[in-house]
Amino acid sequence: MPKTKAVIITIGDELLIGQTIDTNSAWIAKQLNPLGIDVVRRVAVGDTEDAIRYALDEELPKADIILLTGGLGPTADDITKPLLCEYFGGKMIVDERVRTHVTDMFQRRNRPFLERNLKQAEVPDVCTVLFNRIGTAPGMLFHKDGKIVISMPGVPFEMVAIMEDEVLPLLKAKYISDAIVHKTIVTIGEGESFIAEKIEDIETALPKHIKLAYLPSPGLVKLRLTGHGDDKAVLEPEVARYQDKIAERLGNIVVAKEDLTIEEILGLSLKQKGKTLALAESCTGGYISHLITQIPGASEYFKGGVVSYLNAIKTSVLHVDAAIIEAHGVVSEQVASAMAQQVRNLLKSDYGFGVTGILGPGMEDGKVSLGTVWIAVSDGNETTTKQLKLFYDRIRNKESAATLGMMLMWKFINHIS
Ligand code: AMP
Ligand code: MG
Repeated sequence: MPKTKAVIITIGDELLIGQTIDTNSAWIAKQLNPLGIDVVRRVAVGDTEDAIRYALDEELPKADIILLTGGLGPTADDITKPLLCEYFGGKMIVDERVRTHVTDMFQRRNRPFLERNLKQAEVPDVCTVLFNRIGTAPGMLFHKDGKIVISMPGVPFEMVAIMEDEVLPLLKAKYISDAIVHKTIVTIGEGESFIAEKIEDIETALPKHIKLAYLPSPGLVKLRLTGHGDDKAVLEPEVARYQDKIAERLGNIVVAKEDLTIEEILGLSLKQKGKTLALAESCTGGYISHLITQIPGASEYFKGGVVSYLNAIKTSVLHVDAAIIEAHGVVSEQVASAMAQQVRNLLKSDYGFGVTGILGPGMEDGKVSLGTVWIAVSDGNETTTKQLKLFYDRIRNKESAATLGMMLMWKFINHIS
């Protein structure tokens, strides 16, 4: 059976001038992929009738499903709905369920209900309404020549709600034919070429219906196996066998056999061991604490952190000896190590972590070069340190320092050198 093809059209002038980054189509594509639906094109157009009509005319012949986002608001620049009504030859009617929902929403928020808000409850009589639980603009589904056109609001969380409540269940029921299985292996500390060499024979022997992808990011490589087949019950264990084989070969650079982030992996380790962590962050400015606290249940293992950005805070709050800073410079192994030990004492945690560095641009301090970062982890008896040399811009350097910092913590906690 030929694969179902989808095109995503995102609508909005803000997308074309780069003011808003189109995250909607990436999210949608990610959901369609496991359903075996191929996204063949992604198109962004402005808020004009001609542009939207042209995009539909162009893309309809290429796709079985078209997903549109944007242009469904109550203001004059939102023209998608009347245009679709005309395109599919309908007329506007009020949908009672949507009207009740919209008036209720305004009442609950104590906001005056305006005539233009009632417009939100109008839909073309030729569409199926896709209910928007959390917003006022409903989604719409149209049929044309055996194809499906779905229109959703641009606001990302409203689009997500409509996709999850309405669109994905519908697409699953209609299109899922062959099974797809993804399995991930997360590795740290080695590059993709090293990994490719180590598993070359396994990779070459993979059957045609199982593909391997390398997804590298700073310090971390994810290996994703994707299998296609008719029967999930057969495919699942088959892909799992290759996952096991590869993980076994790669040994202790494997940190997870699930698609997890390093902060999730670190959190799991701490939870399993029943240990707690505290952070002293200088150049990462609390970013590692932020990442760790993005995970539900982090309070089980994360005690807190000190953002000791200035030297004065390192000495007054963390009680890092000023003489150490004076003797070795603030970006040094000794200071990172003292930060890790001191924050552990201060917050009474099992492990303490310290990070100090200069991320750039500018402000070379004469002692160390730009992009130098020292990280340290301590358990009170033993302290391990590592120097990083980062070469990107400030923001990417911060992200790398955070990832590599969490990796050092994970290795230390798991006694891996
Ligand atoms: P709209 O439905 O066109 O009124 O969109 C409302 C808001 O959603 C816009 O102002 C953008 O901030 C956001 N938005 C629209 N399209 C996208 C998109 N493709 N990706 C991410 N955000 C979007
Ligand atoms: Mg818009």
